[in-house]
Amino acid sequence: MVTAVVGANWGDEGKGKITDMLAEKADVVVRFQGGANAGHTIKNNYGKFALHTLPSGVFHSDVVNVIGNGVALNVNKIAEELGELASRNVPAPKLLISDRAQIVMSYHILFDSLEEARLAGKSFGSTKSGIAPFYSDKFAKIGIQVSELADMDALREKVEGILLKKNILLKHLYGHEELKTSDIMEELASYRDFLKPYTADTSAFLRSALAQGRSVLLEGQLGTMKDPDHGIYPMVTSSSTLAGYGAVGAGVPPYEIKKIVAVSKAYSSAVGAGEFVSEIFGDEAEELRRRGGDGGEYGATTGRPRRVGFYDAVASKYGCALQGATDVALTVLDVLGYLDEIPVCVAYEIDGKQTTDFPTTVDLCRAKPVWKTLPGWKCDISGIRNYEELPEACRNYVEFIEEQIGFPITMVSNGPGRDDIIYRNGSTVKR
Ligand code: GDP
Repeated sequence: MVTAVVGANWGDEGKGKITDMLAEKADVVVRFQGGANAGHTIKNNYGKFALHTLPSGVFHSDVVNVIGNGVALNVNKIAEELGELASRNVPAPKLLISDRAQIVMSYHILFDSLEEARLAGKSFGSTKSGIAPFYSDKFAKIGIQVSELADMDALREKVEGILLKKNILLKHLYGHEELKTSDIMEELASYRDFLKPYTADTSAFLRSALAQGRSVLLEGQLGTMKDPDHGIYPMVTSSSTLAGYGAVGAGVPPYEIKKIVAVSKAYSSAVGAGEFVSEIFGDEAEELRRRGGDGGEYGATTGRPRRVGFYDAVASKYGCALQGATDVALTVLDVLGYLDEIPVCVAYEIDGKQTTDFPTTVDLCRAKPVWKTLPGWKCDISGIRNYEELPEACRNYVEFIEEQIGFPITMVSNGPGRDDIIYRNGSTVKR
């Protein structure tokens, strides 16, 4: 059976921790979309790690980790991350990379940086990892698939055609030096040599694993709000962040995805620009940012301070619905223990009318938060393992959020470690 772990919000919800935890019982962990533009922070017995490209199952030596066809494959980053694991005594993980995955080229990264600089103040706040140029090329059918590395002569001809277009843009739009075919071919040859031992028909591997009754975890990157179709377009990423896309980006039958864990953080955070209705500012925000996550709300990839806010039940309800959540994991609840009162955004007011439906960006940019304030619990809840042992105000907070979003919160995370988890049965909310 397949379980997907995906983000209900803007990303950084703690998916890495939940995946690392669920990986203990999984046979296979799969990345199915995105690239090195976001990161998971994982804390376990080997230490604290920021993974950008490797699946979160790499810390479990009997798990097979798969980089699926839907991923933007940054080969240098993979090599770097494998090196980091080895240098910190993590046993070499089992890793398979799809022969249908496409490669993030140095020119994708170059174009990303040049375009961000050109747009200046109007930029998308890209992490400059080459993701938008990569997916643009993929869908324009000029991307380079891993399988193509087997025929370097054919590839040279293709690269010449690609550079013809790229060099016109480089020269005339960006005033940049042109690219040489020989340099790109050299880059591709180094990727070919690195990828060879890992390359496989991963979709066939997954189908056979499923036929043998093995359990597969799909690991999403970012969250619903960053989905190019259903998110806050255009401030989104370039590949679908939804569990449904897991079937495409991993190459598994959609009906195999039986469990969808939507991870939602007990407050909100977002990196980069884009609509964020429940955002808070000033000292109140600074305090939440400093106390947030594990060591503060700063991007795992960029180190940029994240924008923070209180829980947005409107965005999360929508976020869970689009993911098709069978379960919600409410994370980082422990961080809120310092607050006397905790506001929750329960509706948006748009042009004087209240709604709990998440609108398109055109209306979203006029939305104001409608707050409901709940009492805080004013104590440290880390270390608690049974739901009933949580302070009453804390349980009320969880149950209030569950009622607002309408999806069952079956896991509550109260610390960054693998064991910091409270399983909750008996939710009255039915999907
Ligand atoms: P991801 O991209 O969704 O995996 O999220 P990140 O790695 O950006 O973020 C989550 C941060 O919160 C990391 O630093 C985690 O170690 C930390 N974290 C995850 N769950 C919890 C939790 O329940 N409590 C606390 N305090 N930190 C958590």
